[in-house]
Amino acid sequence: MIDENYRLIKNVTGVRCPRCKEFIWSLYRHDFHGCSCEACTVDGGRDYLKFSFDPEVGMPTQETYDILFNLKTGHSTLLPIITDGEGG
Ligand SMILES: [Zn+2]
Repeated sequence: MIDENYRLIKNVTGVRCPRCKEFIWSLYRHDFHGCSCEACTVDGGRDYLKFSFDPEVGMPTQETYDILFNLKTGHSTLLPIITDGEGG
């Protein structure tokens, strides 16, 4: 299922907009994204997550996924991270 057209990016933290429910994330500095309703933006990459939001919409929730990125189509799929008995 994973071939050369796909790239798996692990442990990407981003935010989910409370209004349009879109998940947005940033992979590197100055990789700036906004959600479809433009209430939330994210920036800063994986080292430090920087986000802003419209106070009328409310605080977006932070979520972390592995992201399967299709290099051909630009489509990305969010894969829930399964924590395997961590902690203890
Ligand atoms: Zn939104």
